[in-house]
Amino acid sequence: TDPVISARDVRVWYGTTRGAIRAVDGVSFDIAPGETLGLVGESGCGKSTLGRGLMGLLPPGAKRDGEVWFDGKDVLSMRPKDAYRLRGVELGMIFQEPLTRLNPLLRISDHFEETIKQHDPGLSKDEIKQRALDALRQMGIPPTRYRSYPHEFSGGMRQRLMIALALVLKPAFIVADEPTTALDVLVEAQIVQILNDLRRNFRTSLLLITHNVGIVAEACDRVAVMYAGRIVEQGRVADVFENPQHPYTRELLRSTISLRTTGLNFIPGSPPDLVDPPDGCRFHPRCPEAMAVCATKNPINIERPTGGRVECWLVGPQEEIPEGGTRPLKQEELAVAD
Ligand code: ATP
Ligand code: SF4
Ligand code: MG
Repeated sequence: TDPVISARDVRVWYGTTRGAIRAVDGVSFDIAPGETLGLVGESGCGKSTLGRGLMGLLPPGAKRDGEVWFDGKDVLSMRPKDAYRLRGVELGMIFQEPLTRLNPLLRISDHFEETIKQHDPGLSKDEIKQRALDALRQMGIPPTRYRSYPHEFSGGMRQRLMIALALVLKPAFIVADEPTTALDVLVEAQIVQILNDLRRNFRTSLLLITHNVGIVAEACDRVAVMYAGRIVEQGRVADVFENPQHPYTRELLRSTISLRTTGLNFIPGSPPDLVDPPDGCRFHPRCPEAMAVCATKNPINIERPTGGRVECWLVGPQEEIPEGGTRPLKQEELAVAD
């Protein structure tokens, strides 16, 4: 089947006085109908920027490049008006910060009326209410709260409201940016359940952005691992988690496991400055397996041995590695490279 959404070499950068922050730097992936792709990676690696970029929802001043194909059209080159229409009906977004998206002066009912009317102007007030109450019920919010204001809800409830608002039009593709971070464990499980129902009942496709590798294992078909603006590995969840090819994926999985069992164990070092990322592989200053080639030459994006894609010189292609490139990178070479 054809993918619902295809990102091709997507780039997003923010202009700053220090230079351009290359928050997303050449990202490609497909999502099939009814499929959920999990997007994981450390804070600041560009997940939210990518999610917003896919929707054409970047702040003014951000620049972008590449293509995002949806239903035969490139979302990134659409007129703003057409992109706006598409966003309500076919593309939905659940934001990382729900408060900034709800208008404190408007009741929940107003939010629903506004959203639904924009895209279905023919509906009566009763029909709108019926749809809204369905969406609220799905998210465990009682119908009695329909006329409440956003500030009358707890943080977790507001997040669920945002999800209900995003779901009410039953879009074909949803970006959910950390939909569970503000929520307690019970609600988290409930949301994973709802997302799963959604894809089963409506064949909704989802990009699920999260820090939580456990959620990815539970709710996603495929996973994309992002590091410093690039997707360094992607593939089927079981395959990538059981047989990670990229050292960053391995570190990420290791740090998550030990967070649960033995306490804190973050990946040593910190992500690079996206204004001036390191030459070669961006992970090389932190990579326990770095080789000489990694400090100078960008790894090539290739197919993983068991499907999916990866970019790491350990996987290959061998013939592209210069003579002597596979010797371990020495600590003192690191200092020079940076
Ligand atoms: P988190 O996990 O903390 O949500 P993230 O992976 O979603 O992080 P982004 O929010 O996409 O990361 O940020 C990627 C990079 O772009 C960071 O360096 C961030 O500081 C920068 N950035 C994000 N938004 C802006 C903006 N509006 N203007 C300038 N820089 C920005
Ligand atoms: Fe590590 Fe080199 Fe692979 Fe980068 S390309 S992840 S530095 S082994
Ligand atoms: Mg984010």
